[in-house]
Amino acid sequence: MGDVIVFMGPPGAGKGTQADILARKLGGVHLSTGDILRASKESKLLDMMERGELVDSKDLIRVTQSALEAVPLDQPIIFDGGSRKLPEAEHWMENLPKMKRRLKAVIFLNVHEEESVQRNLLRGRNDDTREAMTVRFVAYRKDTEPVFDYYRKLGLLKEVDGIGTIEEVARRVEAVL
Ligand code: AMP
Repeated sequence: MGDVIVFMGPPGAGKGTQADILARKLGGVHLSTGDILRASKESKLLDMMERGELVDSKDLIRVTQSALEAVPLDQPIIFDGGSRKLPEAEHWMENLPKMKRRLKAVIFLNVHEEESVQRNLLRGRNDDTREAMTVRFVAYRKDTEPVFDYYRKLGLLKEVDGIGTIEEVARRVEAVL
């Protein structure tokens, strides 16, 4: 069974940065749903992302499943953004074993909203406008926060304080694994 580690957290929590570091440490592959969706070039998906909306779980799964399957089983997958809605979380729970993978842990990078907004504004991606950010936060509270309870009940959720230097946070991530 190949391991999968999921990163969750509010927009700008540092999921991509920490997933990258962890993948290098573990000799694994960092898969970012945002990057995979952007690379799909499907205009419906790109428009939703630009508005700050979460794409439909069906589309997310359709576009990302093959990327997961392409990773050799001896390499862990560090899955950044893979479970932002309950249907996705349930889908991976059911389907990862069929792909000979198991969900080892879900890392919740926790940063407060003010910090998160500041980091997004600094990042300056084309979906980092104030309007899109507001929409992303509403979606985060409505769709993503319930997923924490789902993983908490399964005993998979590891909360990590995301405030600090990149190296400090990386050490905390390693410590909970
Ligand atoms: P990110 O690069 O992780 O900040 O993701 C950028 C955008 O991709 C998000 O704002 C969503 O529009 C979309 N997205 C990424 N992951 C998911 C997901 N699991 N479910 C739905 N939409 C997603």
